[in-house]
Amino acid sequence: MSEHPITRAVRTRVERTNEMEHSSPLFLTSSFCFDNAEDMRAAFADETDDNIYSRFSNPSVQEFIDKVCALEGAEAGFATASGMSAIFSTFMTLLSAGDHMISFNAIFGSTHTIITKYLPKWGITHDYLAVDQVESLKTLIKPTTKLIYLETPTNPGLDVVDMQRVVDIAHEHGVIVVVDNCFATPIFQRPIEFGADLVIHSATKWIDGQGRTLGGVIVGKPSLIKDIYTFCRSSGPALSPFNAWVLSKSLETLEVRMERHAQSALTVAQALEGHEKVSWVKYPHLKSHPNYEIAKRQMSSGGGVVCFEVKGGIESGRNFLNALKLFSMTANLGDARSIASHPASTTHAKLSEAERQQVNITPGLIRLSIGLEKVDDLIADVVQALEKA
Ligand SMILES: *Cc1c(COP(=O)(O)O)cnc(C)c1O
Repeated sequence: MSEHPITRAVRTRVERTNEMEHSSPLFLTSSFCFDNAEDMRAAFADETDDNIYSRFSNPSVQEFIDKVCALEGAEAGFATASGMSAIFSTFMTLLSAGDHMISFNAIFGSTHTIITKYLPKWGITHDYLAVDQVESLKTLIKPTTKLIYLETPTNPGLDVVDMQRVVDIAHEHGVIVVVDNCFATPIFQRPIEFGADLVIHSATKWIDGQGRTLGGVIVGKPSLIKDIYTFCRSSGPALSPFNAWVLSKSLETLEVRMERHAQSALTVAQALEGHEKVSWVKYPHLKSHPNYEIAKRQMSSGGGVVCFEVKGGIESGRNFLNALKLFSMTANLGDARSIASHPASTTHAKLSEAERQQVNITPGLIRLSIGLEKVDDLIADVVQALEKA
């Protein structure tokens, strides 16, 4: 049969051979072919694990999920387009009208927006708890309580929540525990070992590690993941295969990157402690951290973020940022390039002073995400900026 050159050009493709690429190939495809109608029927009937369509599954995405599962000690997972879509899909799957959930008052801003603005639209109520009031969970849990959601360490305040206590109390009442493990990464903290049912990541941060892509992932109990998968398969928050491929590569270097980030972060935190322009420094593995004992128990390192309060309030915070030469001013964290942010005048500017105080966002709070530059250069930059704050 002699087809038209256009037809041949359109239909020409690389055939898979038995050569194995060393670097994983990128499966940038919307859908997958079947050899015959029977195979396609069986896949649609869930009788096989064959890939059908990339909103449901994709080999590049599955490789990323499998790597996260290995690192977190999880049996199953699903990857999403961003951290927020992972969090939203989890809430949508596990909560129904009339249900109640509990979280801590120091959580990521967009998570707070979903809990307080959107979940009530579907009749889902919540209570917030201070990070050091874990024992009060006993009185807050009601018969309708389905889920406890926590972040540790928290963004941006670096508060630490006692995961073991939360899990013990929650499981006594049959309540599911979901942990946002974005700040610690599975290199330093594995919530499933403390009994968490699900672990969520914004892969946008340390997992990518170079500020290139958005991504999210949920791993944990297979029965819960199955329900989340079913919701996502229909509603479509799927991670793009290209982003999954980037993130999967990133996971291969996560441990060595995190060790350097954390080592430099601790060195920066120690250099800031006692500086005359700094009223306090917060880093989970500094003895001065209010939850140092818990942080030591559940985290093998303090992570890559350091917080401190520059004396002189909002203006000094802004002056400090303006004086930095090396640190980037950008709304991200977990990059090879160090980043500084001033929550009171940016991410949390819409809150009142009193509301900010409630979630420990003090006027001169600076959040540093420590990158992979040489630490002496980072300390020199921070010190010269403090002189101008
Ligand atoms: C950034 C972040 C998120 C949201 O993730 P996106 O990938 O930006 O959607 C959730 N939790 C924490 C702790 C974060 O830092």
